[in-house]
Amino acid sequence: MNMFKLSKKVQSLPPYLFLEIDKAKRQARAEGRDIIDLGIGDPDQPTPKFIIDALNRAAQDPANHRYALDQGMPALRNAISGWYKRRFNVNLNPDAEILPLIGSKEGIAHFPLAFLNPGDVALVPDPSYPPYKGGTILAGGKPHLMPLLESNSFLPDLNKIPFSARRKAKIIFVNYPNNPTNACASDEFYAQLIKFAAKNKIIIISDLAYSEMAYDGYKPRSLLEFDGAREVVIEFHSLSKTYNMTGWRIGWACGNSQLVAALAKVKSNIDSGIFSAIQLAGVAALEGPQDYLKSMCELYQERRGVLVNGLNSLGWQAIKPRATFYVWIKIPAPTDSISFAARLLKETNIVATPGVGFGKYGEGYIRMALTVSKERIKEALERLKKIT
Ligand SMILES: *Cc1c(COP(=O)(O)O)cnc(C)c1O
Repeated sequence: MNMFKLSKKVQSLPPYLFLEIDKAKRQARAEGRDIIDLGIGDPDQPTPKFIIDALNRAAQDPANHRYALDQGMPALRNAISGWYKRRFNVNLNPDAEILPLIGSKEGIAHFPLAFLNPGDVALVPDPSYPPYKGGTILAGGKPHLMPLLESNSFLPDLNKIPFSARRKAKIIFVNYPNNPTNACASDEFYAQLIKFAAKNKIIIISDLAYSEMAYDGYKPRSLLEFDGAREVVIEFHSLSKTYNMTGWRIGWACGNSQLVAALAKVKSNIDSGIFSAIQLAGVAALEGPQDYLKSMCELYQERRGVLVNGLNSLGWQAIKPRATFYVWIKIPAPTDSISFAARLLKETNIVATPGVGFGKYGEGYIRMALTVSKERIKEALERLKKIT
């Protein structure tokens, strides 16, 4: 018996569904089996050298060793503003419309604390990145699930959100290019979303973690490019996937100044900023040579071709992603996603993520990440021949 009782909020967080897979994976590793891990959404390539060099230089300077108390260094906020202008042709005021974060996950998870009262609703896509649900619950809010179905191109069907939920909703989460389904938003959807949010007085949280990871010439757009967005949108960006910096913890929120200020207020009570040397490395990333991005996308694009063509030739249903490094695959057997992932690990030593881990509407799918070499993907495909 535990002596202490968990809070109701913590008790109502969604269960962690990867326990069995994690355990089986650890055991397989301990047994020395040759595991191909397609389960992790974490780039396998190192951070570009010019960014590491900038960190090394900044780490030597004692001025960077102290608390970074203001809301991100002006140099970083200016670099973000310049990048936004170049990338999206959107003007952002570095003082009022940009807030650096210790990785975008913490900002996304903390944001609901600023606007939800007990019983308020957040509209959460399902399947989705777990902090949308988790952050809502920890703030005392109720997630109302919006199914992302293939029949609607993995976009939420706004017309199907019941009026009772619209009335109580304070926040809607969107994430395109999407993890885990790799779907991309159309301009029509974004325009409709902004109208919906303005009409119902709902804040749009747009998670743009994958804006730079796209193929075949596709350039994902910022929601802030669209008319009326400045009134209702806060957009979250991350250096994690764009510059292979997942472990560094740096990202930002930007958009409507009231929303940015509210998140800054919450955070001022929780953390004390990002290590200044990492902020300066972030400046180097955003202002440095961007040709590296092209080679990153080419690398994933090549792996994407090998994996998706290979799966299709085995008769598995998977669509080539236009963006992100995820392949969202219909399970080719009459079983659930956890059992199927367990079977893959047991019979082929391949790790894939069960779709249900992202929410109940992810059932029927598994996710594979393009985070291993082309050679290992080919080896994985050889092994998968046994499964069909
Ligand atoms: C990886 C990822 C992020 C990035 O999180 P950081 O905290 O910035 O590392 C955000 N959103 C989604 C959907 C992701 O997959």
